[in-house]
Order: sequence, then C-alpha cells, then structure tokens
Amino acid sequence: MSEFAIIKNYCQGIGQRHPETKISVGDDAAVIAVPVDQELAVSVDTMVAGVHFFPQTSPRLLARKLLSVNVSDMAAMGAKAKWATLALTLPDSSPDWLQEFSDALHERAREYGVELIGGDTTQGPLTLSLQIMGLVEQGKAILRSTAKVGDHVYVSNHLGDAALALRLINEGKTVDDGDLIQLRLALDDPQPQLALGQRLINIASAAIDVSDGLVADLTHIAQASKVGIEVSIEQVPTSPLFRSAGGEMNDALYGGDDYQLAFCVPQDKVSMLDDVQQELNIHLTCIGRVVHGKEGVALTHHGRAVPSLKAAGFEHFKNQR
Ligand code: ADP
Ligand code: MG
Repeated sequence: MSEFAIIKNYCQGIGQRHPETKISVGDDAAVIAVPVDQELAVSVDTMVAGVHFFPQTSPRLLARKLLSVNVSDMAAMGAKAKWATLALTLPDSSPDWLQEFSDALHERAREYGVELIGGDTTQGPLTLSLQIMGLVEQGKAILRSTAKVGDHVYVSNHLGDAALALRLINEGKTVDDGDLIQLRLALDDPQPQLALGQRLINIASAAIDVSDGLVADLTHIAQASKVGIEVSIEQVPTSPLFRSAGGEMNDALYGGDDYQLAFCVPQDKVSMLDDVQQELNIHLTCIGRVVHGKEGVALTHHGRAVPSLKAAGFEHFKNQR
C-alpha cells in the first residue's frame, strides 16, 4: 500500500471535528482558528517499539496509549485537548494492523474530544509520535514553576500499578492471572486525568502528570519552582490490588506510567477539593508540603527522614556521555 493510500484509508476523519479547524488532513499544513481569549498548549510524545512498549503489543492498545499519554500532558496544564498530528513510522503496511490502529485511535480520540488534523507517514522501525494541541483560557495554564512554600501536595487516585505490572513481567513473577491482567491494564491502557486537570484551574498552584515516577516528577516541580517538597511516604496512595500482588513502596514512588496528576494547592483552596472529588468521583490524597530549603524532594516516613531509596525516574541516554 502506498503512503497516500495509508493516509487516505486510515488517517482521515479520525476523532471529533471542531469548528475551529479550517484546514485538516490533505494540505501542506493544517490551519486552526484559535479563539482570541484562548491560548494553545502544545506537546509531543513518541513511543518506540522495544523501548516504550513490547513489540508484540496490539495496535489497539498502542493507539489508545499513544493518545492517552499525550492527553495526560494537556491534563497537567489544565488544557482542553483538541487537536493532534501523528507521525507514523511503520516497518510495513499491514492493512489489518492499520485498520485496528485507526479504529482504536478514532474511538479514543472521540472520547477525548480530539481531532486528527495531520501528520507524516514513513517506513522504518515501528515508531509512533503524536503531537497534541489543546486550548486553555489566556494566562490560566497550570505550570510546574509556580508552586509556593506552604502549599499542600496532592496526587490523584493511586500510584504504582503500572510499575508493578512491568516489574512482575520483567522478573517473570507469577501472580494470580486475574491480578496480572488488572495490573497490565494500568500499564497498557492508562486513563489520563483530563477532567481533573481542567477542574484544577484557579485551584492548583502547580501541576505535573506522573509519567516518570512520583519522586522524579515532583522533583521537576521543586526545581522549576525553586522550592523543596516533603513527601510522607505513608500517605502515598496505592490500590488494594497493588498491595495484595506484592507492590513495594519503591514501585509507587519511583515507577512510572501512572498518568495521575500530582499538584500543589494553597492552604486557602484545599477545601475546594471536596467538591472536585465528588463531581469527578475520584480520590485526591494529600501526600506532603511545599517547604523552604533544598530544591528537590525529601521523603519522610511517619515524620522521620528517609534517605532517597533510588536514583529517580526513567531517563533516556542515561548511560551515555
Ligand atoms: P507533505 O509532503 O506536504 O509534507 P504529506 O504527503 O506528508 O505532505 O502528507 C499529506 C497530508 O496527509 C498532509 O496533510 C499530512 O498532514 C497528512 N498526513 C500524512 N501522514 C499522516 C498521518 N499519519 N496521520 C494524519 N495525517 C497525515
Ligand atoms: Mg508539502
């Protein structure tokens, strides 16, 4: 199948049409009419076979995760996800693979209210790169750099399921099949907190999505905001399944791929979170405080300092100079 047939058959009409889209797939570039009172939030995430996913992963799960991890970055900014472009590098043009990928992308994009408006199609080792664009009211985007001393630090739902799944797979551990299927869902099909992100506008002072691991991601906020962050390990929320399937605190603190939001809230806005939890039917847990002092994350366990357990977060090029 030619590049143009792939574009025509599998990349057109994907997701939800938006009135602001003036030109979509088919021209040299897409054209968007950005509303005057809004700003465009833009981000890109790439998934490489063998690095970010097992090569045999189904195209359905790949499409879902590709969109979800990008939408998660919009959530972290408080932006509404609206448009995407897709750079697709494929080893071959299998119609079955492309159909399943395209159908899943369409379904997920509609759920998130995202329209695919362009991209690039090339041959090579399987690599999926999606650029997401979202709208946020002027000046309202939630940044990493604006946490203040005294803020409370929160995290949504629970952490560690995806990291535990990955560890169990890598260690070849056998757990109850049903448990592993459940845990794998957290790894393969994460649910970004898009509604929460938008709801945190005018509440959170800073936010990040937990993709590299809680400690690594909070360190990003600490450094960008030039503050310290104290985290009480015993408060970090994990799921009942995580605990029964052998999850360790390291998985929840340093494992990645959670796609929950970690965010800071000034004392006088903490009470607003009750409504947010009820409206969105999610759990928000206070796990620490923003403090003066060394720019980074300090861990405590029932009030006592804990030495950092592990080098934080996944990094590419870590072993190269
Ligand atoms: P050009 O050569 O001008 O860069 P292309 O031939 O690469 O354009 O692409 C033709 C059209 O198809 C463009 O509008 C482009 O955005 C779109 N497109 C190409 N690949 C994809 C894809 N994987 N998903 C969505 N749109 C795509
Ligand atoms: Mg061109």
